[in-house]
Amino acid sequence: MQKIQNYINGELVAPQSNQYIDNINPATGKVYCYIPDSDERDVELAVSAASKAFPKWSAMSSEKRSGLLIKLSELISQHIERFAIAESIDNGKPVWLARQVDIPRAVANFHFYATAALHLSTETHSMGDTALNYTLRTPVGIAGCISPWNLPLYLFTWKIAPALASGNCVVAKPSEITPMTAFLLSELAIEAGIPPGVLNIVHGYGHKVGKAIVSHPKIPAISFTGGTKTGEDIARIAAPMFKKLSLELGGKNPNIIFADCDFEKALLTTVRSSFSNQGEICLCGSRIFIERSIYDKFKNAFVEEIKKIKVGDPLQDESWLGAIVSKPHLEKVLYYIDLAKQEGGKILCGGNQISLMGENSSGYFLEPTVIEGLSYNCRTNQEEIFGPVVTIQPFDEIDEVLMYANSTTYGLAATVWTENLTRAHTVAARLHSGIVWVNCWLLRDLRTPFGGVKSSGVGREGGFEALRFFTEEKNVCIRLA
Ligand code: NAD
Repeated sequence: MQKIQNYINGELVAPQSNQYIDNINPATGKVYCYIPDSDERDVELAVSAASKAFPKWSAMSSEKRSGLLIKLSELISQHIERFAIAESIDNGKPVWLARQVDIPRAVANFHFYATAALHLSTETHSMGDTALNYTLRTPVGIAGCISPWNLPLYLFTWKIAPALASGNCVVAKPSEITPMTAFLLSELAIEAGIPPGVLNIVHGYGHKVGKAIVSHPKIPAISFTGGTKTGEDIARIAAPMFKKLSLELGGKNPNIIFADCDFEKALLTTVRSSFSNQGEICLCGSRIFIERSIYDKFKNAFVEEIKKIKVGDPLQDESWLGAIVSKPHLEKVLYYIDLAKQEGGKILCGGNQISLMGENSSGYFLEPTVIEGLSYNCRTNQEEIFGPVVTIQPFDEIDEVLMYANSTTYGLAATVWTENLTRAHTVAARLHSGIVWVNCWLLRDLRTPFGGVKSSGVGREGGFEALRFFTEEKNVCIRLA
């Protein structure tokens, strides 16, 4: 069986412990490869390689660095099918989704930041005849990048690309639940000629490798995407060390559907925004608020659409939903479905684990689930479930729905459906969230600031924001007179 290797100092190497973790295919429930069970010794080797590589990499011209990252982007592009199949097997997501979204986005991340870094400029502040100030922007040194399992290569590269493009060396850790495409990336990094030590990928558990990265005194910046609880643990370690922190955390996103919406578009997009990737996207809407005058019509049409969804083998193109990422996560989602029932919720469709046939008979499949009849402030409507489960609820007034929408501790994304321009602007301005989509969902321009408020995170990724995060500013003041 295949053993994934760490990528340290330009080489694929075994973990110091020589121990490996089982990697399970969620669509079959079976172990299909082994992941290095690395620890602080491997992180130390990665930091030492990154320290050695940093002077040359940071001094290299932006154009040359950009060329290497574009080469890497092109290599991924040449292997889209291989990466898509690997992502699907590792995560349980449908292969068509990985082919259309995850892997092309990883290609775009490298391409975008390879070119964006060429356009980052700094300011000068003239004090007339007295002095001239200018701002120098330099890489932080070694960046620690830690990513989750839901969009594995997509989010891993969303961090690594700006860190490298702005002249940093990187010590990165993908989720131990979905490490495969990060491993494939390390093979391509060698082929692309990324100099040894510039990018290091250490596989393993969060409490070992992740913690060692966060605690390491020579890593001054941590870019993390994952759960809010993990974000808290990271902040606790990083804050007294005064590290730069970018935290992209959980969400409990509202979808607000007004009666004057374009009904068909709102309906079909809400199906997607609720259940794409098994509902395992931090930006999925999990609380759907529908203006009362169209509540029954929308509810009936929504449930009809969802009953048509095919859940099946992720490697088959006709499966619209694949497997839940892991057994513990499936159990968590089932727990919340049970909690919703205890809280008085009525299951309109779904609610059950699915047993498929043959190879997939032990996989972790779940019906897309819609629940109604819950109050906005019950646990089901306040806590992140992160699966194919949504609640629906009617509303009458704008103030009322804004109160519902803003009632959670989270504030990542929101979706608003209305044809009334004034209302769209008013509601968007009053929502407590980092992103508001009006009459669309997951329409992404990589230049825009991306991130959440409240317990959904600190800082912004995307565009120049990420390049600013991975660099330090220095003001140089020159007296002229
Ligand atoms: P997680 O927090 O369990 O793990 C994320 C990463 O952190 C993994 O690589 C894990 O190994 C590592 N980790 C775990 N404990 C650690 C520790 N103590 N120190 C350092 N690293 C540690 O999250 P997950 O279950 O992989 O991902 C799901 C969560 O991610 C959801 O809450 C989801 O909303 C969130 N998410 C947020 C965004 C966003 O952009 N805001 C995007 C995707 C996912």
